Amino acid sequence: MYHQPVLKNRRTLLERAEKFVSDIYFTDCNLRGRLYGDSCPLESVASFSCPTRVSFAEASQQTFTPYQVGETFGPTWWTCWFKVMLEIPTTWEGKEVHLLWESDGEAMVWRDGQPVQGLTKDGEKTCYILSECLKNEEPHSVTVYVEVACNGLFGAGKGTFIGAPDPDKMYSVQRAELVVFNRDVRELLTDFEMLVDIVKELGEEEQRGYQALFTVNEMVNLCDPSDPSSFTKAHMLAHKFFSQKNGDSQHCVHTMGHCHIDTAWLWPYEETIRKCGRSWVTVIGLMEKNPEFVFTCSQAQQFQWVKSWYPGLFSEIQHYVKKGQFIPVGGTWVEMDGNLPSGESMVRQFLQGQRFFNQEFGFYCREFWLPDTFGYSAQLPQIMQGCGISNFLTQKLSWNLVNTFPHSTFFWEGLDGSKVLTHFPPGNSYGMKGNIEDLVKTVKNNKDKGRANHSALLFGFGDGGGGPTQLMLDRLDRVRDTDGLPRVVMSSPDKLFTQLQTDSALLCTWSGELFLELHNGTYTTQAQIKCGNRQCETLLHDVEVASSLVLCRDRTFNYPVEKLQELWRLLLLNQFHDVIPGSCIELVVKDALRYYEDIVRDGTVLLREATEALGSKGTSTGVFNSLPWERCEVIQTQDSAGKPALALVHVPSVGLSPVKDTQTVTPVSVTVQANGTVVMENGILRTVVNKDGTLASLCLIESNREAISDNVQGNQFVMFHDVPLYWDAWDVMDYHLQTRKPVLNVENPIHVVSSGGLRGVLSFSLRISEQSTITQKIVMDANCPYIKFETEVMWAESHKFLKVEFPVQVRSSAATYEIQFGHLQRPTHRNTSWDWARFEVWGHKWADLSEHNFGVALLNDCKYGYSVHKNTMTLSLLRAPKAPDANADMGIHHFTYAIMPHTGSFQDASVIQSAYNLNFPLRLLQCAPDTVPWSAFSVSTEAVILETIKQAEDREGALVVRLYESHGGSVTAMLSTALTVKEAWHCDLLERQDSTRPADITSEGIALKFSPFQIVSLLLIL
Ligand SMILES: [Zn+2]
Repeated sequence: MYHQPVLKNRRTLLERAEKFVSDIYFTDCNLRGRLYGDSCPLESVASFSCPTRVSFAEASQQTFTPYQVGETFGPTWWTCWFKVMLEIPTTWEGKEVHLLWESDGEAMVWRDGQPVQGLTKDGEKTCYILSECLKNEEPHSVTVYVEVACNGLFGAGKGTFIGAPDPDKMYSVQRAELVVFNRDVRELLTDFEMLVDIVKELGEEEQRGYQALFTVNEMVNLCDPSDPSSFTKAHMLAHKFFSQKNGDSQHCVHTMGHCHIDTAWLWPYEETIRKCGRSWVTVIGLMEKNPEFVFTCSQAQQFQWVKSWYPGLFSEIQHYVKKGQFIPVGGTWVEMDGNLPSGESMVRQFLQGQRFFNQEFGFYCREFWLPDTFGYSAQLPQIMQGCGISNFLTQKLSWNLVNTFPHSTFFWEGLDGSKVLTHFPPGNSYGMKGNIEDLVKTVKNNKDKGRANHSALLFGFGDGGGGPTQLMLDRLDRVRDTDGLPRVVMSSPDKLFTQLQTDSALLCTWSGELFLELHNGTYTTQAQIKCGNRQCETLLHDVEVASSLVLCRDRTFNYPVEKLQELWRLLLLNQFHDVIPGSCIELVVKDALRYYEDIVRDGTVLLREATEALGSKGTSTGVFNSLPWERCEVIQTQDSAGKPALALVHVPSVGLSPVKDTQTVTPVSVTVQANGTVVMENGILRTVVNKDGTLASLCLIESNREAISDNVQGNQFVMFHDVPLYWDAWDVMDYHLQTRKPVLNVENPIHVVSSGGLRGVLSFSLRISEQSTITQKIVMDANCPYIKFETEVMWAESHKFLKVEFPVQVRSSAATYEIQFGHLQRPTHRNTSWDWARFEVWGHKWADLSEHNFGVALLNDCKYGYSVHKNTMTLSLLRAPKAPDANADMGIHHFTYAIMPHTGSFQDASVIQSAYNLNFPLRLLQCAPDTVPWSAFSVSTEAVILETIKQAEDREGALVVRLYESHGGSVTAMLSTALTVKEAWHCDLLERQDSTRPADITSEGIALKFSPFQIVSLLLIL
């Protein structure tokens, strides 16, 4: 049936077919030109603009004025509502009728007061289907509303899409009309496009590609665009090609619809609510027409928003969740950053997320879903397993700048040995389009060929929402089993992971963190957000501990369940993977900082209520210690006249004590020397501070060990040029290290602020530039093993990076960094490309560099970026990127870091405890004068940290306590408590009681066994 052979010229045949479906060339005579039939103008279009996001009910009550296509509206972040009245011609009976709407911005169509479909040019959605086959009895006069948000899928960046948003940008509708849509043309176009892509993707080596070429060429011969009756023959030819099947061994691609919606990024949180509405209502529409279509959807917060703002849509989603088509995934409150949130925060991401999914949909997610996050903590496998999750999906490591990650499917082993089955979709994307290229890439890029024969392919516009289209579904449907291409199944995470698990015998294991070799600037950018996060994590910790203790003493106490959930959810929201990393626009930063203010304000009230209840609201001053060890520290209090005073207090673990008269202790001495340097010592440390605030010496007195390297200074501020290749807020590049310049300009030399006794304080200031200064207090407390550097920076720089260095007398090939519920080591050398790529790393409250029997720890109260190269320990302080927030980090910053030399190991020297002490201030309270020191909990070994004490989620009168092994060793610990505990049970991180594992309560307490870095949660029934 084929026509006579012609010269086998691949190029001409291919290009002939391309031109036949081109939307640029030959549209007067090609197939593409026939996509639309008749058109007809709208009866009327009227509009109303407003700066805020209002409900449909409110919008539809406004006065609409006539709108002409082409007129502008806006500016950015405004909303323009359109009232569209249309009259479908009766002559269009039997035709498919669309409202064609091409406009800037992102639109939602409302009909009969309900959201019905999203429209976005960027997301290839410009049609709202009014009728698939117009019938006489259908209403021909229709009114719809179109809500146009004045921002694109990717916000409104000026110049480049990550540029700071252009506030003055104006928007317009370019085309709005009724059209007849020729579905048969669309179907045939899809056949053509797929075959053309097969020719291109399979290349000249594969004979299957030539079969596609001749097929598509013959289709052009057969098809007369002006004669629809010729379409069937062409379509049948394509169908024959697509139906030629694979052998049994072919790779299987598990396709799943997806729509990555950044919870805030280049647009504010509020817009995300509408992005969810627009994207998900479109998904529901596709599900109605495509009963096999499966869509995966993460982030409980977004579901919660849709539940409140689009309740009708939410119940439809619930319906399709039941049918197994709309699949909630991930198990977390938001897709959080994988590095910076604390261990407890990560647990709460799952606790809030999984509980939400269970409440609304009746099940817990079985996979963790974090396709777009900037690295993954080595403690995540244990946290996942503790939350009922054994599978993990991401793809972000494909962004590595230096090294190619060696696996697509593997077991990921965490710090404690927990393993999760992990899959990186080999197409290296979470927003594919169902093209042939996507399928071929998925097979070719699979790094575990021969080990794993199944891969995921996530399709749908993403990052800014949008999601799948009918065209994507049609493409995938054509090539379910087509010889030469992988097999394609519409799947689900469960089906994929079950298959991978079944075939897992040959899979390799990757142990330790999944470090992203890119975006290392996100450990530092937007310092106020980092500070807010740390401060709120500690505050909520303290509120929970104090409230739990009050509850134990007084069962009528109203534990603030709802308020705490609200504050936790705000904190978790800001841990989203473009907010806490600081890669968001200024509007989002403002929202985030406002949320932190809310948490601090309300959390402080809760803490005061709880500590007052603990202290019985007496007239004496007391202190509350939320940490599980006894503390003896200098605190700021007030004397009887109300003036600020210092006191040295002893407070038992997780308890309180009155502030007594200062007890005897070696005082701090401060001596100004003839050369202007100052010597400060407290019996533990002696330091010599230069006039410029640097440390000439830091000596551990008992062992007479000098911590600072010869001929260099500690506490040396340094500046770097910080110009990345593109991702401004995200990236600091290795070459910035070549631009190091010490800050040497002394504005105010060192002088004594407090001359000793309980506290010695020196102060100095430096000038960074004409606009920027550093003012610092160097604080040495009696009985304290570290020196604090309380720092204020006035920062008005551009593309600069401020760090502080401590070159120390320690030789070690690895430095240690605190992470969630533990610590890990990273090299201090640059032997291999993997070592070199970690020139800037993240850690939490401390990092330590130790050789045998001596080391130095660097502690901080709100920083996350570190580097230790050879013997120099560096803490990253401030950056000054200009995109996507043109004002990122400009202004005044306050932060504290501390240096702590020690003998022995950092474990034995209580570095971990010191870092906690620096972060969790003792809290003052009012107590009765006769209050005796009281401890609620203590743990028999320092290795085990009692991290969390809270009321159990579902059981009033029960506490959950969470402990972890922090030293990296196996140990048995006794948890003692002064509280009356009736029963104790092991439970998982979701607080589900393990009825097979009662904890043994003896008169001494509860004996617990730990393996290295193990997290143990107990349910204590009071
Ligand atoms: Zn993202």
